[in-house]
Amino acid sequence: MALTGAGISAESGIPTFRGAGGLWRNFRAEDLATPQAFARDPKLVWEWYDWRRVKIAEAVPNAAHRALAAHEGLTLITQNVDGLHDLAGSRDVLKIHGDIWTRRCTQCGHETHDRVAPLPAYPPLCPKCGGIQRPGVVWFGEGLPGDVWDAAEDAARRARVLLVIGTSAQVYPAAGLIPLAKRAGAKIVEVNIERSAASEMADEFHQGPASEIVPGLLASL
Ligand code: NAD
Ligand code: ZN
Repeated sequence: MALTGAGISAESGIPTFRGAGGLWRNFRAEDLATPQAFARDPKLVWEWYDWRRVKIAEAVPNAAHRALAAHEGLTLITQNVDGLHDLAGSRDVLKIHGDIWTRRCTQCGHETHDRVAPLPAYPPLCPKCGGIQRPGVVWFGEGLPGDVWDAAEDAARRARVLLVIGTSAQVYPAAGLIPLAKRAGAKIVEVNIERSAASEMADEFHQGPASEIVPGLLASL
């Protein structure tokens, strides 16, 4: 099983929230990725998401995404919303924080999925009922999609090896999958350019960029 975070997509040119280039007009992600921010100013929040969608639309998967996609029998859980694991060919990715290419109606719940970027107008409206659409991602303070989360916990309890790649392990409940897998007997193997909140728990720590380390590591498993 592998758990990936924003770091795996950094070498594809997508900034992490906490790294350099992650700020937009001096807002922190925590100020924009919340239900309160959206209720206050949906246009502003959509402008930020559209800026990210444009960046992400230009990005292609790197060697780490590709190696994970090629590894038979691997359960892949990602905190990323960028869709790069899908583009690399991974199937059944458990996207516990949703998908930036999905929009969901705040009135009727209808979902649309496309890669239109930039959007023609903010906020985008539901094709069914005309209600305001929101990004199909999980915001700070929101619960995770139940079915996806249940599947992720299930996988963590069954994992023999858990690869933790490019995550600061600071965002909960996602980060809780690591101690869960550890308690259930998994070997924790971490890949990161620097130590993270998960490193204390890791049985192996491989320091370096994901694209350089993950392909060789998977080949050795
Ligand atoms: P995060 O908490 O997952 O932290 C990023 C981690 O990646 C850091 O520990 C950093 O040291 C590591 N890292 C950076 N470059 C790396 C590389 N080349 N190889 C390996 N590791 C590398 O992410 P965050 O940015 O703090 O964001 C928190 C939440 O927002 C998470 O849900 C995250 O997935 C999401 N987010 C997603 C995207 C995306 O979809 N690409 C981008 C930004 C944030
Ligand atoms: Zn609707």
